[in-house]
Amino acid sequence: MDKKTYFITGGAGFIGSHLSELLLKNGHRVLALDNFSTGSEKNIEGLIDNENYHFVRASLDDDIVVDRMASESDIIIHLAAAVGVMLIVERPVHTIRTNIMGTEKILDAALRYNSRVLLASTSEVYGKGVSIPFAEEDDVLLGASSKNRWAYAATKMVDEFLGLAYHQEYGLEVVPFRLFNTVGARQTGQYGMVVPRFVQQAMNNEDITVFGTGDQSRCFCDVRDIIRALYDLSLHADSPGQVFNIGSQNEISITGLAEKVIEITGSSSGIKYIPYDEAYAPGFEDMERRVPDLSRINKLIGWESEYSIDDILNSVHDSLK
Ligand code: UDP
Repeated sequence: MDKKTYFITGGAGFIGSHLSELLLKNGHRVLALDNFSTGSEKNIEGLIDNENYHFVRASLDDDIVVDRMASESDIIIHLAAAVGVMLIVERPVHTIRTNIMGTEKILDAALRYNSRVLLASTSEVYGKGVSIPFAEEDDVLLGASSKNRWAYAATKMVDEFLGLAYHQEYGLEVVPFRLFNTVGARQTGQYGMVVPRFVQQAMNNEDITVFGTGDQSRCFCDVRDIIRALYDLSLHADSPGQVFNIGSQNEISITGLAEKVIEITGSSSGIKYIPYDEAYAPGFEDMERRVPDLSRINKLIGWESEYSIDDILNSVHDSLK
């Protein structure tokens, strides 16, 4: 198989570091960029000695670095973004700027060197979506602009529009993908992600903080499944020009998740229910359910998730030990 050079933005992040490992294992070269805003040196400590791995600490604002890295790449995987509901609610200007400006820069750089681009988007774009499961061609239902949370979805939707427009107008190979809740080793709970938060709380025998009623549900997908999907999409001839959902269809309520975390970690934690207004900000809106329709990706690359929620919780538990 052809050895490719991949340029990964957000390469020291949770997903970027796992993806880099898989690419190196499959014989490719990886150029990783990260400013350590949410990524970390620790995430890539197992990679830096690999001769096919090159890391640059810089942000997407650094035009010269971005241009140089793009010029050497066959495929760009653009993961760098402001992520995590808590970060987004607390830093809306940073979120909007990073997510829109960053993508524009990457698409322009890709166009100069004719690199293929995979663009990270999110299941947040479905918003309070109307019919379950969410399919890529469905209408979306975002909340009012007075509620910061929706800025994230709106910026990612602009990114998708932009990517598809570059494909349509300039023939650039762009593949936007919508990640549903992704979890696994090395993810931090610092920016709000529920699984590492619950596991850490359970390990400390502290109360598990369930926001709202706990009846809301999510489908959690293991990062090891996600990177497999990204890898196959990155090489498939027919992936450009359409958006792909990537996630698991195994649904669990947040109270159910808290109970499972307590059981798997053998913790003596109790469950504490906290109203959304207190957890995030007044007027915060959550979504009740979020399940992906996976027909499109399944049809193209035959992908589906393999790891169960128990596998996922065990791996997060091991990584936090
Ligand atoms: N959540 C919770 N306790 C926490 C963090 C999150 O109950 O300490 C809830 C959150 O309100 C949401 C779900 O868990 O209903 C998933 O949250 P996360 O931020 O991980 O992802 P989201 O699906 O909201 O993007």
